[in-house]
Amino acid sequence: MKALSAVFLLMLSVTGFAQRSDYFQQEASYIIRAELSPDTRQLKGLVTFTYTNHSPDPLDVIWFHLYPNAFKDESTPFARQMREMKRWGFTESQPDDKGWIDASFFHGSTKLTTEEKPDAIDEVKVYLPTSLKTGDSITLTIPFDVKIPKVFSRLGTENNHFGMTQWYPKVVVYDQDGWHPDSYLDYGEFYGEFSSFDVTLTVPGSFTIDATGMLQDNPSEQARIDSLISRYQTYKALTTDGDRQAFILQFKQDVLKAKEAGGTKSLRFVAKKVPDFAWFAGEDFLVDSARTSTGVLSYALIQPANADSWRHAARFASEAVDHYSRMVGPYPYPKASVVDGALDAGGGMEYPMITVISSGNPEGLNLLDQVITHEVGHNWFQSILGSNERAHAWMDEGINSYYEGRTMDAKYGADRSFLSDPSKLGPFSLILRPVGSHELNLHSLNMLVHKNQDLPNNLPASDYIYNGNMVVHYQKGALMMAALESYLGREKFDKAMQAYFQTWKFRHPGPDDLIAVVEQSVGEDLNWFFDPWLNSTSYPDFYVISKETIQTAEGFRTDITVGNKGDLFMPVPVQLVTAAGDTLFQTVFPKPEGTISFTHRDQVASVRLNPGNRIYELDFTNNGQGFQINVNFLAAVPSLDAYDINLFPVMDYNTVDGVQLGAGYWGGNLLTGDKLTLVTVYKGLSTGEPGYRFFFSDRIPRKLLDYIDWGGTFYDQQGFRKQEVFIRGTAGFRYYESSAELSVGRYLNDDIRYVNPLLIQDVDYQTVNLTLKAKNSTRAYASSFRSTISSSFEVNEGDPLFTRVDAEFGYRFRWESRSYAAIRLYAGSAFGTIPLQEGFFPGGSADPRREAFLIPMKGSVSLLDNLSPGDGLFMPGYAVYGQKGLQVGKAGFAVKLTLQKSGWMFFTDAGQVYKERKNFGSGSLLYDAGLGYQLGPIELLFPVWVSDPPKGDDPTDFRFVLKYNLTDILDQSF
Ligand SMILES: [Zn+2]
Repeated sequence: MKALSAVFLLMLSVTGFAQRSDYFQQEASYIIRAELSPDTRQLKGLVTFTYTNHSPDPLDVIWFHLYPNAFKDESTPFARQMREMKRWGFTESQPDDKGWIDASFFHGSTKLTTEEKPDAIDEVKVYLPTSLKTGDSITLTIPFDVKIPKVFSRLGTENNHFGMTQWYPKVVVYDQDGWHPDSYLDYGEFYGEFSSFDVTLTVPGSFTIDATGMLQDNPSEQARIDSLISRYQTYKALTTDGDRQAFILQFKQDVLKAKEAGGTKSLRFVAKKVPDFAWFAGEDFLVDSARTSTGVLSYALIQPANADSWRHAARFASEAVDHYSRMVGPYPYPKASVVDGALDAGGGMEYPMITVISSGNPEGLNLLDQVITHEVGHNWFQSILGSNERAHAWMDEGINSYYEGRTMDAKYGADRSFLSDPSKLGPFSLILRPVGSHELNLHSLNMLVHKNQDLPNNLPASDYIYNGNMVVHYQKGALMMAALESYLGREKFDKAMQAYFQTWKFRHPGPDDLIAVVEQSVGEDLNWFFDPWLNSTSYPDFYVISKETIQTAEGFRTDITVGNKGDLFMPVPVQLVTAAGDTLFQTVFPKPEGTISFTHRDQVASVRLNPGNRIYELDFTNNGQGFQINVNFLAAVPSLDAYDINLFPVMDYNTVDGVQLGAGYWGGNLLTGDKLTLVTVYKGLSTGEPGYRFFFSDRIPRKLLDYIDWGGTFYDQQGFRKQEVFIRGTAGFRYYESSAELSVGRYLNDDIRYVNPLLIQDVDYQTVNLTLKAKNSTRAYASSFRSTISSSFEVNEGDPLFTRVDAEFGYRFRWESRSYAAIRLYAGSAFGTIPLQEGFFPGGSADPRREAFLIPMKGSVSLLDNLSPGDGLFMPGYAVYGQKGLQVGKAGFAVKLTLQKSGWMFFTDAGQVYKERKNFGSGSLLYDAGLGYQLGPIELLFPVWVSDPPKGDDPTDFRFVLKYNLTDILDQSF
């Protein structure tokens, strides 16, 4: 009978919108009793689990998630993903910090056979005593023990706070596609069966708890919560810092007293139609509460350290419930709480009716409200609409991010909903302006698209952990919904999404189900829209082809022809503003071109395609507004519609010119690499010598390779002139990246005053260079290869003619965040008349192309003499430039070994330079060995011993080298 009534309920929920005829949904209920022992971080529990099979298939097994086992050892899919994401906390933790679950499954008194999923100890298959037929139910009893891990991701404890998420044996969803025994991951969320929960938790009497579900029949605990709430109201009314500090001090003392009093209490929470159950416990929570207009309750559990910054948290949660209820559909649960908790998986994490937030509330940003709104919003797109988040993360993160943005826009204004008040951000206020959520989404996607690291929206979550691709789920998903809203108009859009909510609430919709309901609601086929947005990386790029206004009897007529240079075709709104201030809108569908006519009484003041940039497109500067320039000081949030010019002062120093003063600007968009320019001009105060530097670069994305950069560097400084142009194509896949760069440069050394004649010869030459690079950068292993071939050509008679080739290979194995072993192999050779600076120095390069611009040219400042860019052969024992006994050759090789732990390193090198290439194989090998310390990209190296010191020096004389590498600095920051 139970099964029949459930089928009947399903039929009632049919509202006339598109349904799958083969749809079924399983039914589960949990009665859980569990006792927490905070001191030993243990939880002992018993589940009475009832499962009803509504599928057409008889079931011989039931799969369970044993998620706490994700934290058991290094073998789990979670541990592997953390290493891949270069997050070392779990790997580096002590055995006692880890966690696990031990569960057995009984039917009556029979212990059932279980089997782990291969390679995943957090997924287990339980063999049923007899096949569970369609419509039948089975009850299992599951005693379990959990060792609660420290916080590495979601489940965990820190400072006597307990985030009890993914904590119990949880049934795996069985749907039309079968079982989904997906292991716990940090990136990649969940898929839960709608269930009812009746959970009784026994905890120390001093603990404050909130959970999925409502507290049952416990007047004394309710009175305790209510008194905490009124106590926090008292706190909020305090007006001086002194009073507030005294309050918190007293509060903490009371917490201690309650702890000393000892005892335990049992609290019972009941929830229905939820896909999961989470609870949060701690001794020292302050409690706030708010209620929505429809009576939904929000608690905020607040740590004393955040007593001030969280004073509006309960209200934020409550407002989110109101906004989403209006936009999407009424909130069906009685509560939506927020907990200020420990978490290492983003700024917040959603669970039904309760959400944990770990982000701060920096002044000027609306971050806390934004994260609370987002996580509370997941009650709609995760709990109520129970999509498979692992397979289709955009269905929760993308759609939810869109509604989060809309809520924030409504509360703070669309142009400042993310960053409202930059003036509160201290020194950054200079370079920041207000930014809205939508604009932030546009910049985020823009950055990925211009590096071609964008992915289609509808891939499994774990495919997105490289290159910041998570942006695809969140920001790109939100932008897809914004583009749909732009096309349909808000009213039709909301009606369609509300129909989706009503049709699929408390069920498991997939992408096709969403699309079918939206199509039916608006009455048109939308495959042309959803297919490219979900399954490709296509985008539109609208532009104005022509605009013509003619005078008519009634006023004017303007014909606007619009084109689309992109590969996603969709209609675009066009805005025309007249001189009298009238704003007219029309929509045109350029496929790839289309024309529309406006009739109006006054002259045209402006025309703008895609006003408000509501539809993401590849280029926003060609939408009819003309070329616009924004001038800023130092830097600024990039403009989408205008060219940014950022002015800055220049101050430099060298031993010949003394202090150099000047000014410059850089322009363009660093996020996209579009039309970057840099100009500086300056003058040396001692010599009066002027200098300049000019650089430009532009990026052509998504053509042939991932992207192509081209540009040039021109400068004249310290007697050195460089004129170089380059074109570089880059392609990659996940964590592999390779590039080929072709450049042509002239390198003119005009003034020997500036350079060290032991390193650099006063000679002009020009070369054509080809550089090939490849690297991978997973966390555990990294390898890189680079090879350059340069060939000179004659411009003036007598210019040196030579060819130079070198190659290096590096391999690094990392076993902890700050421990690695690395090997580097380097070899190079040159033919013809080589300028001194292009030769091979045992200590490394003389930076002949002025790429590592910190290299001292000439001078007696001993610290500068000990700087090295660390390229070429680079044997640190021989790296001190300009010193006696420096060797230089036409060929060389070096092998380097480095062992590092926590910044401290041991290195040893073997290598040789050859004066002439034909002497290859002759001469003695050079060795050195030493110790060093690494701080980011900078290394301070002490070669303790060199095998072949310059004449008069001892092998063990004190030496030091400061190695820095500009390329590494850039690699590490992006
Ligand atoms: Zn989310």
